[in-house]
Amino acid sequence: MKSIVLLSGGLNSAVSLAWAQRNQFPILCLFFDYGQESAANERVSSKKMAEYFNVDLNIVEVPFLKDLTGDLTVCDDAEESAPSTEEADIQPGPGHSHNGLHPNRNGFFLNIAAAYAENLDASIIVAGFSREEAGVFPDKCFKYVEAKDHTLKMSTLSKVKVVCPTQNLSKEEIVNLGSKLEIPFEFIWICNSAGGKMCGECEGCQGYIRALQHNGLAYIWDKKTDQHLNGEPLGERG
Ligand SMILES: [Zn+2]
Repeated sequence: MKSIVLLSGGLNSAVSLAWAQRNQFPILCLFFDYGQESAANERVSSKKMAEYFNVDLNIVEVPFLKDLTGDLTVCDDAEESAPSTEEADIQPGPGHSHNGLHPNRNGFFLNIAAAYAENLDASIIVAGFSREEAGVFPDKCFKYVEAKDHTLKMSTLSKVKVVCPTQNLSKEEIVNLGSKLEIPFEFIWICNSAGGKMCGECEGCQGYIRALQHNGLAYIWDKKTDQHLNGEPLGERG
């Protein structure tokens, strides 16, 4: 079945794209630019990832979303969704709005993706939600995705379904799956900053580095080439 993949430049969506490439015949990736702080970096990362997997990428600009802010809300199935939630990993750092605070952002993205899916005769949307996020973002939790399937069944002719291959996984497990699927870790952008390189210190970077290390993978900035070399087995480089 043909699928549309939501790409954010980050780990979960990269792993989901790699999974879709083997299981769901992705025909298009969508990247949403809503004026987030690291949009330029995420856009470059998404472009590289889509090219690597040989799937077209559409940039969808929704600038008004940046001005619609709200508080983080705990999903009502948070306990069963995210028994090991580490909120520090996913809450934005001071001054950052990267990770959320835009009400129903993911629900909005899924609706747009459903329109693309119907238009392109695809019946699957692949989204890179995770177990940790499910406990914090109500529009990434299990019950919501389940409910979304019901509504999309009614609102689309092709009865679009949402598939989340990383939804039951922790960050460490997602890195592990990405390693097995041989994703190019060096293309991933996970930092909350707008700078040209990942800071290695924000919550996003720290959680990612911990997950890489947990899997015996390194996070290295190569000063010679000015590139990230994360994802290489520990011990192979300085
Ligand atoms: Zn960072």
